[in-house]
This record gives sequence, C-alpha cells and structure tokens, in this order.
Amino acid sequence: MAGKKDDIKDLSLEELKARLKSLKEPPYRAEQIFEWIYQKGIRSFGQMTDLPAKLRDYLSDKFSITGSEIIKTQISKLNGTRKYLFKLNDGETVEGVLIPAKDITGRQTICLSSQVGCAFGCKFCASGLLGIKRDLRCGEILDQALGIQDDTKQRITNAVMMGTGEPLANYDNVMKAIAALNSPHGFGIGARKITVSTAGYIPGIKRYMEEKAQFELSISLHAATDEVRSMLMPINRKYPLAELMDVCREYTKEKGRIITFEYVLIKNLNSSPKNAQNLVRLLKGLNCKVNLIPFNRVSGLSYSPPSYGESRDFQELLEKGGINSTIRAQRGADIDAACGQLRLRETEKGRL
Ligand code: SAH
Repeated sequence: MAGKKDDIKDLSLEELKARLKSLKEPPYRAEQIFEWIYQKGIRSFGQMTDLPAKLRDYLSDKFSITGSEIIKTQISKLNGTRKYLFKLNDGETVEGVLIPAKDITGRQTICLSSQVGCAFGCKFCASGLLGIKRDLRCGEILDQALGIQDDTKQRITNAVMMGTGEPLANYDNVMKAIAALNSPHGFGIGARKITVSTAGYIPGIKRYMEEKAQFELSISLHAATDEVRSMLMPINRKYPLAELMDVCREYTKEKGRIITFEYVLIKNLNSSPKNAQNLVRLLKGLNCKVNLIPFNRVSGLSYSPPSYGESRDFQELLEKGGINSTIRAQRGADIDAACGQLRLRETEKGRL
C-alpha cells in the first residue's frame, strides 16, 4: 500500500491547508487531520470520523499514513530512559530515545534522529562510524515521536534533535518536523522546549537564525582550540572555531537567545585544567551555558571518560571563569544510550 502514495506526514500544516484549498475544503480540515494523526495516533483516514466521507476517500486514495516499526526497546534500570530502534519502510534503522525527568516536573524529553547514519564522522561518535545512508523524511522523524508517544501513552513535553545525524544538514525536513512538534494541532510542544543540536554546520546555523519561531540551539563544541577540535571533529577543518564563534555571537545578538554548548569530556584529550581555561577564554562574554557530558563508551573506540573528580574540577574552572555549566548525568550508561550505539551494535550483530 505504501510506496506509491505519499506519506501525509511529509506535509506541513501549511502545505496540507494549501492542498485542501485546491479541493475547496476549509483550512480547519487540515487542523483536524493533524490532530487525528499526532494527538490521537490514528493511522487510517477511515477513522477520521469528523471529515466528510468524500474527503476521507480522497485522502485514502492519494496518501498513506506510514509508520516505523519498533524492532527493539532498551529500558534503563537506572532511571527509566527508553531507547527505541525503529525500522523504516526501506529496511534502514534509526534510533529515538525517551528521557523521563528524574524530578517531579513530569518532563518527558524525546531525542530524535534526523538522518540514517551521519556524514560528519566525529571520531568519538558511534553514529558516524558507518557513514551516512540518507536523510530522513519529515514523516520519518515524526514517526519516532509517534512511536514513543504510542508506547508510553504519556504527553511529550520536550524534544531534542540529538539523535543520529546532523539536523541542520537535513534542514527542510527537520524544520517541518519540529513545526509539527510545536503546532497546537500537532504535538503542542513549546518552541523553547524544542532544541536543534549541530556539530557546527555554519550554513545551517545561518538559516536557523532566520527562523521566526523561538526554537533553541545547541552546538557540539567538544574542544576550545582548532588543533583538538579538528582532530575530534573533521567539520572543524571546514568551519573553524573563529568562524563558528562569530556566527554564535551574531546568533545571540540577533535572537536575544542563549546558546548551549555541548562538551563531551574525554580522558587525556580535552578535559585537563588547561582545556578548561581555553574554554573559558573562548566563550567569555557570550550569552551561553555549557553542558558537560562525560564520554559514553562506544564499542570499538578506545576513548574513555575522565573520573568524576576530574569532571568536577573542569566544571569548577568554568564557574570560576564565569561560565555557567552543568554536568549531564549519564542517563543511559546501561543501555547503549550514546548517539548511534544501539544501531551500531545491532548492525554489527548482522541482524539487520
Ligand atoms: N550532529 C548533531 C546532532 C547529534 S547530537 C551534533 O553534533 O550536535 C548528539 C550529541 O551527543 C552530540 O553533542 C555528540 O557530540 C554527542 N555524543 C556523540 N557520541 C557521544 C559519546 N560516545 N558520548 C557522549 N556524547 C556523545
């Protein structure tokens, strides 16, 4: 059934409205369809009982509502983090994660993938080890959110594009997907609770800066000198730190918003007191905070995280230098939670 017909989830609300307009249907029909799909989890047009029968027939004829099958779930015993492996219609797989809050906020954060594999090849990251296969369609990004929502039956409150792939290199599909996450007729997640994370792909950051919605930006920094950063992240050779920092300053000025920098702490590589001082110097005066992430071990890679004490020392030096930071709790250490690890492991096993 799928295959020939287009997945209706690839359309934005605006595109769907335009399509219905050509059929002389009012715009609110598109809103109803969005609510059926994203809020009620309905997967057949026949069940959309408040639509005219003729419209239901038209939609069934032209569109499919595809889904991605969950083929593996890992649940952390430590904190309830759930990691899902989704099988796409062409047999490829992607990961999505649900991170429930540890506190009483009831926060339910989903972490979504934007591509099958990744082209950026960061040396410490499992996602890049297998290279890139292809971009995800908008509908496939949203299928991860739908699958998680359907599995937990809980309202998703936050979303981060921090799964596999470089979201700003699949710009249009990612923007369309986060618009549906944000829409009151879609998932209804506040714009400020939706974060796009980038390895520092400057052309994408420049486009993102022009977006009207107040989505958040996170940048994977991981090093404060070009020497270390280029070694860890090949993209730094094309878009080095000085250029990246210029764009960051422009972003915070234009948008009046803070940037979060992700910094993976790797033993003997970027986590010494000297590295912390370099980071303070680099970020001085910028409206930002730093998220320190102790390296999550990846099978086949020899990197390891520093001790908790070393991480604390690193953080203290940032605080002393006036840079706000947190050390991210390792929420998925027991379930392959680092970016791309579940897919990597399953592929290595030759099961897929
Ligand atoms: N390509 C985007 C989106 C991926 S986000 C980006 O680079 O921002 C995933 C985050 O997890 C990135 O900050 C990435 O650097 C980090 N990460 C990848 N592998 C990791 C590992 N083994 N341990 C800890 N963090 C890791």
